[in-house]
Formats: sequence, structure tokens, C-alpha cells
Amino acid sequence: MAGKAKEKACLNCKALYIGTACPKCGETPSSESFKGRVHVFNPEKSELANKMDIHKEGEFAIKTK
Ligand SMILES: [Zn+2]
Repeated sequence: MAGKAKEKACLNCKALYIGTACPKCGETPSSESFKGRVHVFNPEKSELANKMDIHKEGEFAIKTK
């Protein structure tokens, strides 16, 4: 699949995104090597989101390097 944009993980909030800047924090350091992904639907009710300090809905990397 040529030309497919690579997904990156924001090192600040762990959000997964394609493009040059994190849609949540703007231009922050990012990494293309991340492990696992989680889709947070209810950050207030999710234990995992709480543990990972996620307060917004969206897709996040479980581990970033
Ligand atoms: Zn971010």
C-alpha cells in the first residue's frame, strides 16, 4: 500500500493520529513505534483511561517508546 500515511502516537497524551500535529495538543513529540491501542469511549467511566490519565474520547496507544 504505497502512499499510506503512517499513524503516530503523541508522546504527550498518547493519542493516535495521522498528520503532522496531535489534534489534541498540537505539535508535540510523537513516535511511530507504539504498542497496542485502545479506543476510549467514556473516559470518565473507564478504569483503563483513568490509569492512563486519559480524559478525552478517542484512540490511544497503550505504550509509547
Ligand atoms: Zn497529544
